[in-house]
Amino acid sequence: MTDKPRKSRRGRRPAPESERKDRVIQTRVPQDLEDSLRHAAERERVTVSHLIRNVLEDSFRLVDGIVADSSQLVDNVARDARRLASAAKGQARAPATFVPADQGGTVARALLEAVDAWQEVIVNKPTHCTQCGVTLSRGQKALRGLTTEPAAPVVWLCQACLDKDPAG
Ligand SMILES: [Zn+2]
Repeated sequence: MTDKPRKSRRGRRPAPESERKDRVIQTRVPQDLEDSLRHAAERERVTVSHLIRNVLEDSFRLVDGIVADSSQLVDNVARDARRLASAAKGQARAPATFVPADQGGTVARALLEAVDAWQEVIVNKPTHCTQCGVTLSRGQKALRGLTTEPAAPVVWLCQACLDKDPAG
């Protein structure tokens, strides 16, 4: 990939709806991923197409300037799609491949944004801060996100992230 000025297509903000000339991109996905996407779309009250577009737009904006090569980009999008799928399945535990929001995890960011309140708790099963990824071990004080979203995975926050995160 050649060097381009900062305003590359990849990083541009999407044009306003009225100016956008939408193109159709088709892709094959496994049945279970399709089911998960359908579920997530229903929950968000958007079409599957809309949901995928939102995730892609988020990912592309987020990675611009961080990753240069396109294979990495594709990995990131695929990873976020998998995360989205597992979130849609209502898996309470974050898998080992979970990408914290600070490292570009768009799903993590979305989960954090859905939190209405933090509740201070003592960790039993070791987990990770959804924001920074730090390990939270048994016996440690941490914050567990409260949300009205019944199927949402558990969102964790370390004290450090709460302190340095006044405005989001
Ligand atoms: Zn943290």
